[in-house]
Amino acid sequence: MWISLTPEADLKHVKERLQDLGLWARPCSGSTGEVTGLLIKKDSRAVPREVILDIPGVADLAQASPKHPKLDAQAHKPVLVGHIEVGNGAPVLMAGPCSVESEAQIHEAAEMAASAGATVLRGGVFKPRTSPYAFTGVGRKGLPWMRAAADKHKMAVVTEVMSEGDVDAVAEYADLFQVGSRNMQNYALLKAIGRAGKPVLLKRSMSAFFEDWLLAGEHLLHAGASGVIFCERGVRGFDPNTRNLLDLAAVALLKSVYGQPVVVDPSHSVGRRDLVHPMSRAALAAGADGLMVEAHPNPSVALSDGPQSLHPKELVAIGQEMTRWHAPVV
Ligand code: PEP
Ligand code: MN
Repeated sequence: MWISLTPEADLKHVKERLQDLGLWARPCSGSTGEVTGLLIKKDSRAVPREVILDIPGVADLAQASPKHPKLDAQAHKPVLVGHIEVGNGAPVLMAGPCSVESEAQIHEAAEMAASAGATVLRGGVFKPRTSPYAFTGVGRKGLPWMRAAADKHKMAVVTEVMSEGDVDAVAEYADLFQVGSRNMQNYALLKAIGRAGKPVLLKRSMSAFFEDWLLAGEHLLHAGASGVIFCERGVRGFDPNTRNLLDLAAVALLKSVYGQPVVVDPSHSVGRRDLVHPMSRAALAAGADGLMVEAHPNPSVALSDGPQSLHPKELVAIGQEMTRWHAPVV
């Protein structure tokens, strides 16, 4: 909502009155630098128009052009991933290893994930690694392995695509594209993925502002993605003990104010398996539509992210808790 001001308006006073009403507003300046009005932020309370017009200094109220019209259009609607709905009130478990390591490993992992109640199989064939000497994935040959392993258990497939040149290959085998944290603002990649017309799991960059994350989602929808599911995976904090700080307030904000589908990846946030279950609970309590959890049939031999990968039994414990879960009223 855009508030225009009378020439004699006392900006400070208007802002204070708005804040008293639970309205957060940002002053906007014209080309000569003078403040011409205030833009009410979206996370503000709903207040009747007449109440705002009554504030001395307020001249008029108008609808501001929406910043994310495509996201607004998908609000409060589930996103279809293969045959699975994400955001319909029943939390979805996406689980599997960090990396697809071999055909046998992903088949074993799919069996493990399915028996814990997961309906979406995760696993990366292209791995973004900080060091070029670390395992960077098996590449394209892992895609049909994943598909077959998931199909055996009627699961959907989510996997990361890191380069524009691999979009078509991934589209052929995956139900859900994953955009990794490091690529959230790779707009050329977002455009190429969007053009494939499939749903996308958009991980939050470890240092992205909330609004940047929303707009990256808008880029995907604008380019043609059939839906965007946001994935909070922790942002840079200041204390290495809990690695990436899991921003659950952002999850609640996405859900309760923006009505967007959101899942939480506790694994890459905390980086250690003993904290994954408690943070999974917290994520669901904050309103998440699902979890993306790393688990491995034998974490001690995992080629990536072993310390945060759950043992099969630990994944079962999360799956069981999710079946008893009732979404909070937001
Ligand atoms: C992943 O999920 O495999 C991954 C690399 O996560 P992120 O992009 O969140 O670091
Ligand atoms: Mn990982």
